[in-house]
Order: sequence, then C-alpha cells, then structure tokens
Amino acid sequence: MLVTSKAILEASLEGFKKGKPFAVGAFNVNNMEQMQGIITAAQETKSPVIVQVSRGALKYAQDLYLINIIKAGAELAPEIPLAIHLDHGNSLETVKRAIDLGFTSVMIDGSLMEDSKTPSTFEYNVKVTSEVVKYAHDRGVSVEGELGTLGGIEDGVGSGKATLTDPDQAVEFVERTGVDALAISIGTSHGAFKFKGEPKLAFDIIEKTRELLADTYLVSHGSSSVPAELINAINQYGGQMEQAQGVPLEALQKAITCGMNKINVDTDIRLAATAAVRKLLVEKPSAFDPREYLKMSRQAIASEVRKRMEAFGTVNKIDAVPNWGLEEMKKKYQ
Ligand SMILES: [Zn+2]
Repeated sequence: MLVTSKAILEASLEGFKKGKPFAVGAFNVNNMEQMQGIITAAQETKSPVIVQVSRGALKYAQDLYLINIIKAGAELAPEIPLAIHLDHGNSLETVKRAIDLGFTSVMIDGSLMEDSKTPSTFEYNVKVTSEVVKYAHDRGVSVEGELGTLGGIEDGVGSGKATLTDPDQAVEFVERTGVDALAISIGTSHGAFKFKGEPKLAFDIIEKTRELLADTYLVSHGSSSVPAELINAINQYGGQMEQAQGVPLEALQKAITCGMNKINVDTDIRLAATAAVRKLLVEKPSAFDPREYLKMSRQAIASEVRKRMEAFGTVNKIDAVPNWGLEEMKKKYQ
C-alpha cells in the first residue's frame, strides 16, 4: 500500500506519545536486488517502511527504471505501508521531477546550497524549503527539511563540516516553512567513517527538540551501524576497509526513546551487499552468472534490514499506519 511518509511517521509519533516509541527505518535503493531485499524484510517482520532514493541513485539507475522497480515492490507487497521518498533533494526542480515520477515524500536539504556541498544561510534554507512545502503539499506529498549539517560526505552530499542543530532555531524553522519532518544534526555523519573514537550522540538535542516540536517528525541521517562483522567479511574476502565505525544500534534505540521517528540507513546496505558478493566470488571462483552473486547480495540485504526493523521496533506495526495516500493528504493540507 503506497502511502505518504506522513502516514508512517504519524504512527511512530503516536507510539512515542503513548509511551511505546518506535522509529521507522528509511532504506536507500539503487537497484532491484536492494528493493527486493527490503521488501522481503518488511514482509517477514510486518513492518511499514520508507524506501528512499538519492539523486545519485536516480542518475545511476535512470529515474524511470528505479521508480518502476520500487512501484513493483509496493504492488507485490500490498499489505506493507510503503512511502517512496526523495533523499537530499537539492532544488524545487528536483522535487518536481520526483513528484511527477510518483514519489509520495520528498526531502529538500536547504542546509546546503544547490550544489549539495556549500553550507547555506538560515534564510536561504527557509526560503527554498517553504517553496517546496507549498508545491508538495498542494499535491499531498510529505516534506522533510534539514537544519544543521552532518559531517561526512556520501553520494556527493555534504560539506564535510558538522554543525549541530539548535532546538530553538528548529522551532522557528518549522513555523516558517511548515515541514512535516525535520532532519536534525545530533553528531551522526554520512558514510562508513563516522567516528574516530567513542561514538557520541547529542541526545539532549533530540529531547529538547521533541519537547519544543511535539508534532514534527524527527529524522536521523547518517545512522548506519557499520557492523564490524560486515567490515571483517569484506576484508576477509579481499577487501580493504579500515577503521570504519558507525552508530551502534543501542545508541539509535536510545535516540528513539528520546523521540526520533525516522532513521536513515544506506551504508549498511552497501556493506552487506559487498560482503556477500565478495564471499561468493572468492569461495566459488568459477561463478560467472550475475544472478548467482546478486542473489547473495539480496539475501544479505534482507537480513541486515530485518535486524534494523527489529531494533527500531517496527515489527508488526503495519496496522498502526493510517491510510493517508496522496489524495487523502491533499485534502488534509487544504
Ligand atoms: Zn542524509
């Protein structure tokens, strides 16, 4: 069942308000096997899910291929509430194209300029985000904005410099833009190399923002866990990845109890796929059928995504999601 991300995140927020918090995983998709792995995990755990697509993914796969693979997944799993989300939209033009393709949710990252590298001003962020909100809400589409910048660079997105979110400024931002969801910077970062020492998240910023913005969905980017067993498997089968470190699942679970609603995971899916393909090709050097190793990547992705769904608490939550599709939301926003 294709729904807006507002429908799915509302279920998460309701859970928090009732003292039973859970967060929804948002998993990035670049190809068919990733989509199939994510759908398998959602079906096995009866979890709602947000499938997200970066501009890099749209470019890699060509947007028509990718959107139709995702729509096929949604159609083949009608019991799963699923939102199709644009990750790090950089302009109103990009957002318009995504909405034309059938995305039910978009992110506009106005914390960076249109080049997705240069940090912007607060006023620029308010302006571009407000334009996107107006355009998207008229069509029933949910909008995620971002305030504060994350460290790390992924898919060409990021200034490489981290600035934590100021909760008071977040209130002004949400009031002036009308965003449904807000990505806040709490010390996570994009990519596989997140922390040099002990991973530290600013839980106080989540708590304060949740307190001040009781009805806004909070989003954590750069939240892959970078499991050591995946790094070890990659290195065991000929890879060379060093000192990679992510956000432990326990830290994410604590963030959920502080009020986090959406958790973005991309790197872990990449690692799982790569480890599985490397293993198969090393153990079976005669293999040459792409189906043979891509099948392994699909299984590994399903297993990693399943672990996230269990850790984030979405198991058996499909019935908690209201049936808010685009038409329903178009009326609600008016
Ligand atoms: Zn991100």
